[in-house]
Amino acid sequence: MEETDPDMMVATCRTEGCVAEGIHYKVPMFPNVDPPTYRAVCAQCGQAVTDLVPA
Ligand SMILES: [Zn+2]
Repeated sequence: MEETDPDMMVATCRTEGCVAEGIHYKVPMFPNVDPPTYRAVCAQCGQAVTDLVPA
């Protein structure tokens, strides 16, 4: 197994009314395919976080 360094991404929930809406969370993410795709789920509202940008 090859060790892969995580990419730091800033995830921001955009779900209206979510307590985490608009809050930027810096999270490490591991790309596992090429091209890498990143998926995050908001811990507060459980919705997919669509606002993901490289940190
Ligand atoms: Zn949320």
